[in-house]
Amino acid sequence: MKNRIEEITKHYYTGNHLSSTQLVTDGTGVAAQQVEYAPFGEVVNEYNIDWSNGQVPDFKFNAKELDEENGMYYFEARYQSPPVFISRDPLFEKYFWMSPYAYCGNNPLKYIDPTGMDYDPELVAPKNGQNGQIIIHATYYATESDEASVCNGADRWNQMSGQYQYNVINGENIETYDIIFDIQVQVFENADKRNEAYESVRGNGQANLFQITNEEGLGTVTIDGINRIINGQTEGSNSIVVAKNAPNRTSGHEIGHTLGLPDYVDDVDGLMSNIYDKNKTKIKSNYISNILNRCGFKIIGATQNETNYFTPKRTYDMNGELKETKID
Ligand SMILES: [Zn+2]
Repeated sequence: MKNRIEEITKHYYTGNHLSSTQLVTDGTGVAAQQVEYAPFGEVVNEYNIDWSNGQVPDFKFNAKELDEENGMYYFEARYQSPPVFISRDPLFEKYFWMSPYAYCGNNPLKYIDPTGMDYDPELVAPKNGQNGQIIIHATYYATESDEASVCNGADRWNQMSGQYQYNVINGENIETYDIIFDIQVQVFENADKRNEAYESVRGNGQANLFQITNEEGLGTVTIDGINRIINGQTEGSNSIVVAKNAPNRTSGHEIGHTLGLPDYVDDVDGLMSNIYDKNKTKIKSNYISNILNRCGFKIIGATQNETNYFTPKRTYDMNGELKETKID
C-alpha cells in the first residue's frame, strides 16, 4: 500500500430535491463540503474547494460524478458540461422544437435526466375525475428489413396501454393511473447506419438495439425434457437479437426483457413465459411494478405489489412532482 492514499473515513452525501449534493459530512458528523449550484449545474460556491482531491468520488449535480480531467458530468449517454450537453440528444428528432444540446427541456429545476436519454416512465397526474397516466417510453433502433418484426413486438406492448392500472392511496381516496406504453421504433436504411446511430447513443449500454440474424435459431435449450430452439436473446438488457423465422411473439418477449422483466416460468400463458408454443400477448399486472422499479420510479402511497429487484431512484407524489432522488 506504499504511495497510495487510502480513504480513512466514511462520507455521507446529502442531496437536494434533484439529488445534487448539497452537504457532505464525514464519519463524525462534521461538514466536509457544501456546494451551491446555478440552475443548469454550474457550481457557484464551494465551502471546501480542495475537499475531494481525488480521494473520494466527487458527486455533485444530480448526484452525477464530476470528471476531474475534463470538468464535465458523466450522464451515461452523454457528457454534460454545465450548462449544456456537449453532444446532441440521441433522440433529438423526437424533440425537434428544442435544441438537441439542451438539458432537461430547459427546465432543470423540475426534471432530471438520469441516463442522458429518454428511457423512462412519465407520470401524468389525475384530473377532472379522469385517471392519471404512467407512460413508459422506450425506443428501438432497427433496419428497414427488420421493421415488421420489431413493430410487431412494439405493438404488443402499445396495445396493452390502458389494460393495467396502478392504484395509489391519497388520503381517503384511491387514485388510479392507467399504464400507457409508448414503444417507438426508429428505422435505418441498413445495418451500418443503425449501428452508427446506436453507437452514438449507447453511452453506458442504455440504448436499445434490435436485429434479426441469418441463423434459424440461437442454439437450443432443454425445458421440461423437451429440446427447444432459442428464438431470441437480449444482451446487456438493451440489445435484442432475434433468429430468422422466429415466432411472431419473440420480438415482443425480448422487448419485455429490455423493460427489465425476466422469464416467468410460472406464467405459461403470458408474453414473458420462456415457452414459445402459443402466440401470447398478455403479462401479469404485478409485472408492471418490476418495469417501474427498474426505471427507478415510485409513487408515494403506491399499493401495487412491490418487488425489490431494483431500488427506486425517483419518488413522485400524486401531482407528478418529483419528491426524492437517490444515488445509484
Ligand atoms: Zn426470455
